[in-house]
Amino acid sequence: MTVRDSILKICSQFSDEYWMEHDQTETYPHELHAALAKDGWLGIALPEDLGGSGLGIAEATMMMQSIAESGAGLAGAQSIHANVYATQPVAKFATPDQRQRFLAKIISGEWRTCFGVTEPNTGLETLKLTTTAKKDGDDGYSISGQKIWISSAQVATKMVLLARTTPLEEVKKPSEGLSMFYIDFNRDAPGLEAKKIRKMGGRAVDANQVFFDNYKVPADSLIGEEGQGFKIVLPSLPRLITITTIKARDRLTPSDPPRNERRTLPPCRRSPRPRLRRPRQIHSLRKGPHRLLPPHRPKPSHPTPPRSSLDAARSRQTAHLPRCTALRPLSLPATGHRHPEPEV
Ligand SMILES: Cc1cc2nc3c(=O)[nH]c(=O)nc-3n(C[C@H](O)[C@H](O)[C@H](O)COP(=O)(O)OP(=O)(O)OC[C@H]3O[C@@H](n4cnc5c(N)ncnc54)[C@H](O)[C@@H]3O)c2cc1C
Repeated sequence: MTVRDSILKICSQFSDEYWMEHDQTETYPHELHAALAKDGWLGIALPEDLGGSGLGIAEATMMMQSIAESGAGLAGAQSIHANVYATQPVAKFATPDQRQRFLAKIISGEWRTCFGVTEPNTGLETLKLTTTAKKDGDDGYSISGQKIWISSAQVATKMVLLARTTPLEEVKKPSEGLSMFYIDFNRDAPGLEAKKIRKMGGRAVDANQVFFDNYKVPADSLIGEEGQGFKIVLPSLPRLITITTIKARDRLTPSDPPRNERRTLPPCRRSPRPRLRRPRQIHSLRKGPHRLLPPHRPKPSHPTPPRSSLDAARSRQTAHLPRCTALRPLSLPATGHRHPEPEV
């Protein structure tokens, strides 16, 4: 069985009604998390000696895409994605003792991780993060600052945190002075508050503002060398983008474009910024003998006809721009995309 088949089989236990109810009641899909953990999927890209499968980002991406495609949408994929990608730098840079203590329980599903990078005033400008972690004697660090848009902070037990240990003005290069921590995320402890943000869609998974006010963490929450956190966390960011882009594409356009188009990431209209290189595994996945991707279907020979004169005018204005399928309207006609029938 391929990754896709196995994941679709697990997800077929969760009906559209399940997702509708969890969205409307803003309830985390604990059952999906448990079902994936039970069959070992949370450790898909984590080391085998900890109970993981030791596979790569391509397989993890296929898993996310299949969860989204099953009807769970972004919320389904988002309910587990930090456990899969944000734990990667911990697996790579933690000491053997830290890896054992921190990751085995993530793979077994006992703990959940959230990812604490984005801040209200430093969205994509990660080097300007202002949350600080100050040495608190020899015992640990004291964290102060604010994070925003942190997914799953209402249910997480741990957080991968990027915080500044040396002020920006005192470092030679802005990429220095940030440190990565894998902290206990104890919402009942003094100095930590997670406040839910109201949002449209994907409501089964909470998004939060997180406030730290001299929140104490032990010294061995630090992963890798102090001040090198940006380099440590950097490999997770392209993974996050790959996983998020593919799962978003899959659910935003459930029946269109044809499946063969999913093999390439869309050209982006805002492209003055440098584009990230796709991970090598994606190329090998496409070429390789064990194709996990669905079979090729030809592109339609004609574009969808404009639905109104306004659409026609818009099409004329944007005809010269590269096509960005992820931004297509959601109202395209469905072509009977269905959940797979559960195997008896
Ligand atoms: C539902 C949801 C869940 C999330 N979950 C998490 C999470 O779990 N953990 C976490 O850490 N973060 C999370 N995020 C945050 C997400 O990673 C950020 O939204 C993202 O990094 C962008 O930051 P921003 O929203 O502040 O956008 P901004 O940085 O304000 O950027 C907005 C737009 O401006 C453009 N732009 C910005 N700077 C420049 C520039 N210098 N030049 C040209 N264009 C520029 C960008 O391309 C972008 O399109 C989540 C966000 C959402 C919406």
